[in-house]
Amino acid sequence: MPENSSLIVLCNRCQTAIAEVFQDSGDFCLCCWQERTYPSIGSAHMEQELRSVLTVTRKLSNKMEEKTGVETSITEEDTKQYLNDVIKEIHY
Ligand SMILES: [Zn+2]
Repeated sequence: MPENSSLIVLCNRCQTAIAEVFQDSGDFCLCCWQERTYPSIGSAHMEQELRSVLTVTRKLSNKMEEKTGVETSITEEDTKQYLNDVIKEIHY
């Protein structure tokens, strides 16, 4: 199986950036996903936090899919909940 070529998916929203977030509702680049999910948050620090959280989430998803051969059970809601916790830590 090729390592990378088959994993590159373009963002469903802007159709130009490489998708980094894969959800039931579609595949999005980080910018588009952030605009969809947390339009009011735009700081560079927040983007770093989101990026690290999403990288972990994606790795977990890929691992689970490899193991089970079915789609991940990490849902958009799970991700949002996780990010809410992160945001609380940053803001308070
Ligand atoms: Zn995009």
